[in-house]
Amino acid sequence: MPLINKVRFWWDEDAGCYDLELLDKEATVADYERVSEQVLMEKDALRRYSANCIGCSICCGGRLPLTVIDVYRLKMGGLGTGLPLDSWVETYGSIERQNRCLDIALKLDAYETCALWDRGRGLCGVYESRPLVCRTYICAPLSWRATELRAQVVNTGEDELANMLGIGNEDERPKRLPPFAGVLDYRAVMLLDVCSSRLWHHLTESLR
Ligand code: SF4
Repeated sequence: MPLINKVRFWWDEDAGCYDLELLDKEATVADYERVSEQVLMEKDALRRYSANCIGCSICCGGRLPLTVIDVYRLKMGGLGTGLPLDSWVETYGSIERQNRCLDIALKLDAYETCALWDRGRGLCGVYESRPLVCRTYICAPLSWRATELRAQVVNTGEDELANMLGIGNEDERPKRLPPFAGVLDYRAVMLLDVCSSRLWHHLTESLR
């Protein structure tokens, strides 16, 4: 059966960046993630940015935020499978607070690279179960809506992780988190429920 994409992700030659739009209002985070991975594997994308890849591993460093589903998928993939959520985050993650913002991310090593990066082999140590932020990273310019979609999905899933960990002041925590609450698979998270109305408007322009 042919794969019907509900998300379109392409290189916009005129704008000089990757752009993204929805082809179906029922699209889920899993659709977005799958299309991102497809784009990364395309010859055109490989030529566009892998040719310039200097192996700096910058794509595996910096801020690597985690969603609650990322943690579940990593656990299912064998990383700290038996650990309770708080111990898992303590072992493999880091929690930082800046002013009123809380950031839960993958732990970095002494070189500020992801601690799950296998330095000896030059490969991701958890490739099959790597988080959404890794699967949707493209080392090339992105349009505003493509950038914003990635940020809103990750931030919403991260908020739910914080909520499940019971961290942060009660008044800072969102009261209701419908898109990710109690969900363990990106196929069950609708983009409509994650996006702001402004972003949704821009992502669905071609459907109007
Ligand atoms: S999980 Fe893998 S792909 Fe993601 S940042 Fe770490 S090493 Fe890189």
